Amino acid sequence: MQIDILSLFPEMFISPFAHSIIKRAIDKKLLSVNFTNPRDYTYDRHHQVDDVPFGGGAGMVLKPEPFFRAVTAVKKHIPVDKKSRTILLSPEGTPFSQDKAKHLATYDSLIFICGHYEGFDNRISEHLAEEKISIGDYVLTGGELACMVIVDAVSRMLPNVLGSQDSAPTDSFYNGLLEHPQYTRPRQYKDMSVPDVLLSGNHAYIDKWRQEKSLETTYKNRPDLLDKLNLSANQRALLEKIKNDCT
Ligand code: SAM
Repeated sequence: MQIDILSLFPEMFISPFAHSIIKRAIDKKLLSVNFTNPRDYTYDRHHQVDDVPFGGGAGMVLKPEPFFRAVTAVKKHIPVDKKSRTILLSPEGTPFSQDKAKHLATYDSLIFICGHYEGFDNRISEHLAEEKISIGDYVLTGGELACMVIVDAVSRMLPNVLGSQDSAPTDSFYNGLLEHPQYTRPRQYKDMSVPDVLLSGNHAYIDKWRQEKSLETTYKNRPDLLDKLNLSANQRALLEKIKNDCT
């Protein structure tokens, strides 16, 4: 996948993409990340990317010209047969989710536009972006952190990016539920022990326990997730038992 990030502060991305799984994916050429600074697409003496809002008010608004020019330049390098999507990071966007990460991982090319200051001139938002994404109901100083979050989550969904020891399908949200509890050595720490089932060596029994615990963890921490799921009859019965146990 080719990722292009339009940012006025590309240096912010250096460290997050220079470690661990994302770095490995870039090194293995499973992912390529390129940066474009819209400021390089300003032709005035001061390289101005923002201006005061029409109608008055606080802060500075990002001007349309540098962003339209920068996206046009980036798109010139993306072959026409590639499946590409231009995404604006914005608090007014669709909330980001694991399903969205899975979907975005099906594209060959993603172009992210990071805002700053008071945000974008609305023509950027309406006519340049194909989609707006928010990472939550709060306001960040810029789109860079939001972009890093999305690139990280999407990268994990690309084939061969994760090693087998950290495969995505058992992670939280992948199938709508939270992950079951995990334990590692030692078997006993102070007065806290690992559940016997995990030491039994009986994998059918362990799988069943994990499925039940995944349901229980979701019910206890994020019951709202259960409303969106089509639970099997078995899961529904199990959920009733969990609810009764909890009361
Ligand atoms: N004035 C804008 C508003 O009230 O909606 C907020 C602008 S914010 C300070 C600057 C930039 O940060 C935005 O243009 C966007 O790119 C990014 N940003 C802020 N919060 C975000 C969020 N929750 N999700 C994604 N991007 C966000």
